Amino acid sequence: MSMGIAELRVQAQLSPKQLAQIAGISRATLQRLEQGHFGNLRTYERIAYALQTDLANILPEFKAPSRPTSEDLLKDLLANSGSAAPEDMPELPAGNWSPTRLTDWLLCPAKGAWSTGVFDVPSDFEWPTYERAAVGKAVHKYAESRLGGEDPNAALLTVADTTVGMDPELWLPFVEAWDASIHLTIGMPQTIEQRLEVVLGGHRITAVIDVVDENGTIRDLKTTQRLPNPISTARESLQAPIYVAAWRETTGEMASFALDYLAHHKSGIDYVQMPISVTDTDIDRVTRQLDYAADLASRPERIIPNPINKYGCTSCAFLVLCHEKFGTLTLDAPRQTVAVS
Ligand code: SF4
Repeated sequence: MSMGIAELRVQAQLSPKQLAQIAGISRATLQRLEQGHFGNLRTYERIAYALQTDLANILPEFKAPSRPTSEDLLKDLLANSGSAAPEDMPELPAGNWSPTRLTDWLLCPAKGAWSTGVFDVPSDFEWPTYERAAVGKAVHKYAESRLGGEDPNAALLTVADTTVGMDPELWLPFVEAWDASIHLTIGMPQTIEQRLEVVLGGHRITAVIDVVDENGTIRDLKTTQRLPNPISTARESLQAPIYVAAWRETTGEMASFALDYLAHHKSGIDYVQMPISVTDTDIDRVTRQLDYAADLASRPERIIPNPINKYGCTSCAFLVLCHEKFGTLTLDAPRQTVAVS
């Protein structure tokens, strides 16, 4: 039985934290396995190695298939469709929820599980770095420095110090556009780069607000190559309801919310502001989306990959991991087609 893990751990005089560290897995995963939940074979192998014992000593009696088919997983999902109570839901292994983490879960539950440590990512996994994200970070740093009182030259030096190795031409046009188009519209900010926490439906979420302007509007800066559809952006936004709820929990006030887009075109950079109205209905919607994602996170054996998401699997960082765990296709492993008469 899987209780063997706990017994062997105690025999080895290791705390859960120590064993999780040695095995290179999250404490939440270890806890689930010690409670008798099923894990994947690789995780058991790591634990067996860390405990210096045979794999057979820690495998559960009725081992689930290490690579279940999507049909099996779907049947399992339907058979277990009852929701866990929020108070039963553990924190994510990676920490609090955030708009980004929730987006991952809603796009594809497997992606959410990989990115938040619910599925164990191999220790040699290379987390991708995205140039556009680095540019966005640089422009945020510049805006933060300027709003904090630095003059343009000092703010440029601050950014240059944090972007060593990056071509400045990638971010310089954006910071010039920010100074020319956005800075004055903020006025005297009420807060800059403020990290807040809010609990929605029992789920703890971190919100990092760029700036609240002098009119009390939460403003979030985005750098992009192409403007998104404003209606879809407002309809799908997780960030706006979460930030507004976090601000209300902290200050007691319901703020308005707006996205400040700097869009890079061939002809230059355009500034477009997209206000997103937030009501309690939107906050309730996000709370239910959190319930859904947290419920899956608490019972990862029910998670199925969802290649039919907005962006597909092709550019997903976890393509190879999903191939190993679920047998989904990689870019270089096409299956043979079978003619059906
Ligand atoms: S590769 Fe596809 S199925 Fe796997 S996490 Fe990414 S989007 Fe989801």
